[in-house]
Amino acid sequence: MTTNAFDTLPLTAATLATLAQLGYAEMTPIQAAALPLALAGHDLIAQAQTGSGKTAAFALALLARLDLQRPDTQALVLCPTRELADQVALEVRRLARAQGNVKVLVLCGGAPIKPQAESLAHGAHVVVGTPGRLIDHLDRGSLLLGALQTLVLDEADRMLDMGFMDDIASIAARAPKARQTLLFSATYPEGIQQLAKKFLREPKEVTLTQRPGSQQIRQRWYEVKEEERLHAVGLLLKHWRPASTLAFCNTKQQCRDLVDVLQAQGIGALALHGDLEQRDRDQVLVRFANRSCSVLVATDVAARGLDIAQLEAVINVEITPDVEVHTHRIGRTGRAGESGWAFSLASLDEMGRVGRIEQLQGQAPEFHPLSELTSADSAPLLPPMVTIQILGGRKEKIRAGDVLGALTKDAGIPGAQVGKINVNDFSTYVAVAREVARQAEQALNSNPVKGKRVKARILE
Ligand code: AMP
Repeated sequence: MTTNAFDTLPLTAATLATLAQLGYAEMTPIQAAALPLALAGHDLIAQAQTGSGKTAAFALALLARLDLQRPDTQALVLCPTRELADQVALEVRRLARAQGNVKVLVLCGGAPIKPQAESLAHGAHVVVGTPGRLIDHLDRGSLLLGALQTLVLDEADRMLDMGFMDDIASIAARAPKARQTLLFSATYPEGIQQLAKKFLREPKEVTLTQRPGSQQIRQRWYEVKEEERLHAVGLLLKHWRPASTLAFCNTKQQCRDLVDVLQAQGIGALALHGDLEQRDRDQVLVRFANRSCSVLVATDVAARGLDIAQLEAVINVEITPDVEVHTHRIGRTGRAGESGWAFSLASLDEMGRVGRIEQLQGQAPEFHPLSELTSADSAPLLPPMVTIQILGGRKEKIRAGDVLGALTKDAGIPGAQVGKINVNDFSTYVAVAREVARQAEQALNSNPVKGKRVKARILE
């Protein structure tokens, strides 16, 4: 027997037999960390990716508390997409096999609502669904949460990305206070903390990735002449091809110049500096965060407070005179257990600064020649996603789910090709995979969103 054996948990013999039948020989790390706490009734914030076995981690907990004598809904799982909801329901049904007649119902948009309401009327012990449709059922009174014991937020970060914060809040507010809440998320952006504070009670945190140290950041230095500096940034990007880069300049003027040079080389770059209007700044941030802009060129001041989860590279276009600032800049990559690149371009005039950074880091800078950047003539560096702006937002009562529905249901674009959806007061931004951008733009312009015609345009 290993320490990660399922029979160390308070599970019934029938459930243990099911696990053995499924070939689950021992717990995965997330299960070993989460299950003892979840089965003991604690609220949880668990950091877990797809493929980690997270579904079973919450499914076994919610199944253990079901009272099958009652027909009421006792567990509710919120998922960002229909695909995930289907997968979750499948896993819950599999694990419930030995438990008798556990009714598991999927409630997602894109399917007629009436048959769903009829199924609910027959009783569903476990409901799995997407936030928008669940709200619809709560509003109609077809879904009742009075007997809810377990609320699960699965892929919570993705739900927030898709603009479901208000919907999640509204659902949680309608569930009994004395319930268990289990939150699973791959990343911990600010919104997750807020969500946890509002809806979880003394949650235990389960994190498997250790806090990233500087060893996750690989630094490379290049010596440049002043006149080749901006061009060298393009060489770096085309050679290393990071999906998401923050390039730091010391001045606004240099930000503008660099963006011009990069755009001329077919690199999707945008500038972020203090001279932008608030609206333009918001738009730039939305586009960078939703991966439809590969390179953000910013001053230190403008980048303050920027929280981007997946930053593959940081470039110091110039070396900052403030050594602490250097550490802060490069610390923006290599987060959340991922490794990241930090590239620094230094001219002879900046070697004094480099020396001070060396002292602070206690590590000699690793200089490489620009000539190692050989793939410079390769294809343009285009971001994987494209942002479509919809003229219409919260004031028009547009919700993320409406946009998702127009794209997936009306236009038949797979949910996996739709990225972040940001609903602002007067406009909405949705990221879609580059391959389907035109199709998505057309669909949004020709199908009503929330019963109304809208204008949509690709931001390039
Ligand atoms: P998930 O991360 O929940 O999407 O799970 C990934 C896959 O791992 C699913 O196909 C599960 O059926 C499977 N799985 C979950 N727990 C275990 C386990 N303890 N041993 C083997 N496979 C598992």
